[in-house]
Amino acid sequence: MDKILIVDDNKALSKLLAKKMEKEVLDMQADVAYTYAEARSLIDGSKDKYFLAVLDLNLPDAPNGEIVDYAISKGIGVIVLTGSIDKATKEQFTQKDIIDYVYKGNVNEVNYIFSMINRLSKNRQYKVMVVEDSTPVRNSIKKILQNLQFQVFAAAHGEEAMNYFYDNPDMKLILTDYNMPVKNGLELLHEVREHADKNRLGVIAMTSPNADVGTAMFLKHGANDFIAKPFEREEIVCRVNNTIDAIENIEKIGNFANCDFLTGAYNRRYFFDNMQEYCEKIQDSDENFALAMLDIDHFKSVNDTYGHDGGDCVLKFLSSKLTQSVKNYDIVSRFGGEEFCIVLKDVIKEDAVRFFVNLRAAIAESVVSIKGENVKITVSIGVAFYDREYSIKEIIDIADEALYQAKENGRNRVEIANV
Ligand code: GH3
Ligand code: MG
Ligand code: MG
Ligand code: MG
Repeated sequence: MDKILIVDDNKALSKLLAKKMEKEVLDMQADVAYTYAEARSLIDGSKDKYFLAVLDLNLPDAPNGEIVDYAISKGIGVIVLTGSIDKATKEQFTQKDIIDYVYKGNVNEVNYIFSMINRLSKNRQYKVMVVEDSTPVRNSIKKILQNLQFQVFAAAHGEEAMNYFYDNPDMKLILTDYNMPVKNGLELLHEVREHADKNRLGVIAMTSPNADVGTAMFLKHGANDFIAKPFEREEIVCRVNNTIDAIENIEKIGNFANCDFLTGAYNRRYFFDNMQEYCEKIQDSDENFALAMLDIDHFKSVNDTYGHDGGDCVLKFLSSKLTQSVKNYDIVSRFGGEEFCIVLKDVIKEDAVRFFVNLRAAIAESVVSIKGENVKITVSIGVAFYDREYSIKEIIDIADEALYQAKENGRNRVEIANV
């Protein structure tokens, strides 16, 4: 569980924030301090480091934001939450290494903290990169991105950036300068777009008013957004957050369209799209795949005994078991009620048979917990192998026939089609 520190001498507000934090931010524990001394002793005495601190600037024993420097010196991400609208104060603190500066007089801004914290906690799984030839600019953006909790790569030109990109194809966001030696920002953009479109990889161009390439050029060539130099930290933070939000939303929509709602396994439609593409890809190679139809035995009696919700638990358990058993390029798809289709790609027959035999045994050995009761299930599996003479539909029929045989022969079995 992650920990957040809230420091504010307004006890009602701190308690409210802590309560809301634990409710709205998943897996988060909030500690509260009302003075500088209390905050310091919490920070120093805490075994696990605070993931983040939300700090008031005006504390009874430290009225000038001293707590901010202390938290930063301990490597804790800081969000300043202040009642002060003084411009000079804001300027003074936004120049420090903080994540954000929020005015507490406005309830919308206070609510913004919660979405920000959710954002930060998700950011930790994402890789991002800043590409900039000016060392001070590169370092300051790197700091901002690290403060946003990302895993950050920093490159001094496009060529170096491409090396990082090829080593980390799951990168989520690139912030790039235009004018750089070896490979400029536009060339970099072209090259990454050959591998990842803007729905999967965000690119934000950092443009100068006197550069010979304007912002429109970047946007036309596939940048998600731009930031005009010189920029403010707040603007970078907002634009980075917006781009990541958009990519996550598209991912979510994609999951809705491609996945079964109950189990999260791929749906039939995605299965056929993916397999058609895959078969075209391997058509002229000697790569083969195995396709299995799997059906839970006597599932009706699970529903009868434990109710429909109990049956749903079993389906979810089975789906995640199947998904965890296969490689990430394989497919687990829910075809109907309690029937799944599994494709092992690029596999030889012996390995595939061994896999399904072991899978059946592993399922028979495992227990699903339904309302505190340990429930056992078994499955029957029919396996077919790819043959370039057959269509996908025909291979499914062959596997289905083998599954029927497995049921006929007593269930809790694997049958291999002999074609
Ligand atoms: P067999 O061993 O021959 O496969 O027997 P079975 O009972 O598993 O098969 P049958 O096809 O007779 O019953 C399947 C049951 O699955 C009937 C249906 O109500 C149930 N089912 C289908 N979809 C869902 C679902 O989404 N959730 C739950 N809980 N049950 C479902
Ligand atoms: Mg430059
Ligand atoms: Mg069944
Ligand atoms: Mg069935």
